[in-house]
Amino acid sequence: MKCRIVLLVFFLTPMLLGQGEHVSHIEGLFYLDQSPVRIDIKDGILSKIVRLPESDKSSYNSYIAPGFIDVQINGYASIDFSGADLTVDGIRRATRALWQNGVTTFFPTIITNSHQRIKTNFAVLAEALRQEDIGHSIPGFHLEGPYISPEDGFRGAHLQEFVRQPDINQLSEYQKAADGKILFLTLAPEIEGAIDLVEYAVAHGIIVGIGHTAADAEQIRRAVDAGASISTHLGNGCANMIHRHNNPLWPQLADDRLSPSLIVDGHHLRPEEVRTFYKVKGAERVLLISDALDLAGMPPGEYIAGGKKVVMTPDGTIKYPEQNVLAGASLPIGRGVQNIMIYTQCSLADAVHMASRNPARHFGLSDRGEIVPGKRADLVVFTRNGDTLEVQKTILAGKIVYAQ
Ligand SMILES: [Zn+2]
Repeated sequence: MKCRIVLLVFFLTPMLLGQGEHVSHIEGLFYLDQSPVRIDIKDGILSKIVRLPESDKSSYNSYIAPGFIDVQINGYASIDFSGADLTVDGIRRATRALWQNGVTTFFPTIITNSHQRIKTNFAVLAEALRQEDIGHSIPGFHLEGPYISPEDGFRGAHLQEFVRQPDINQLSEYQKAADGKILFLTLAPEIEGAIDLVEYAVAHGIIVGIGHTAADAEQIRRAVDAGASISTHLGNGCANMIHRHNNPLWPQLADDRLSPSLIVDGHHLRPEEVRTFYKVKGAERVLLISDALDLAGMPPGEYIAGGKKVVMTPDGTIKYPEQNVLAGASLPIGRGVQNIMIYTQCSLADAVHMASRNPARHFGLSDRGEIVPGKRADLVVFTRNGDTLEVQKTILAGKIVYAQ
C-alpha cells in the first residue's frame, strides 16, 4: 500500500481540532474517477484538490473518499444506545470503534423502549455531544419507534410492550431531553395519530421515515403528503408473508418523494432486491445504513440481546437460534458500499455517494459528505480486495482518528 500522508503535530491545537495528528495533505486515488490526486487540508477544512499525473496512478492502491455517514446505528462494540447502562464513555468507545470502519458521522438510534429509558438515553447522548471529540461525529439522533406497527413481523425485534400510539407531547419531551438533536424519526403511518405526528415533526425540523409498517397505499400517500421522505430500511421491518398487491413495499417504491435507506450487508436483503430498489430509486436517492447492533465489532459467539439468546456467526449474521431469524445487523456501512457495487454494478463513486453525499444532503449536513473545497476534511482511505473494503485511515476534521 502506498498512501503518502504528511503529519503535522500541533502542540497548541485549535479548539476545533483537539490534540493529535493533523494532516496537511493526502494523496491517493480519487473516489469519483479513480485517478491520482493530492487533497490539501487547512484548519480541518478541505482547501484544494490537485490532479496528479495519470502516469503516477500505478504507485497508489488506496482510495480516498468522504467519510461514511450512517443514519441508523443502534450500538457498536458492546455499547447499546438504547441500553440501561448508557454512559458518555460508552458513547465515546462506540464512536472510536466506528472511526475504525471509516464512519465519520453517525446518528445513534434509540429504538422502542419505555418512556423513561428513551428520555434518559437521549439526555446521555445530548451530554456526549458536548464532548468535542464525540460531537464532531454525531450531529444528531434517530428515534426509531415507539410509534410503529404492533403486529408481529412488521414490528421486527422491537418489544411489543413498549410500542405505543403517536403522542406529540411525548415526542416533544424526547426532543427536549435530546437538546433538540433528534433529526430523524421512523414511524408507521397507519397507526392512529401518525399523520399529525409526521406534520408536527417535519414542522419542527425532524426528517420522518416510514418503517416497521403494515400501511396501505393510501396511508403511505398521506404520510408522504405530510412530509415523510425516507423509507426506513426498505424491505426489512416487514412480515415474511404479505399480500402480493396490497403491501407496504409497492407504494413506497412507486413514490419518487421517498428515498430508501437500505441494509446491504448481504443478509437483510437479497441481491435482486437491492438491484430492484436501486434501479427504481437511483443512485441519487438511496441511503446506505448499517442498522448495526451493539454486538457489531465483537467476535463471533453467543450473546444475550434484549434478554434473548442470539448467535453471531463469523460471516456477521446475528440470529435468534431457536427461530433461525435475523436479530439484527453487525456489518459496518463499508460492507454495504462494497456489496452494492457487486449487486448493482454501480460505480465506486455512486456507492460512496449512497454512504456519504446522499445522507448528508437529505439531512442538511452541508459541511460534509463530499470532497470539495470548503467542506470539513472528513475522509476515509481504503483499499479494495475482492469483496472486502479495508479501511486504512480515517480522518475527521483534518485529524487522523484511525490508522491501521
Ligand atoms: Zn428497524
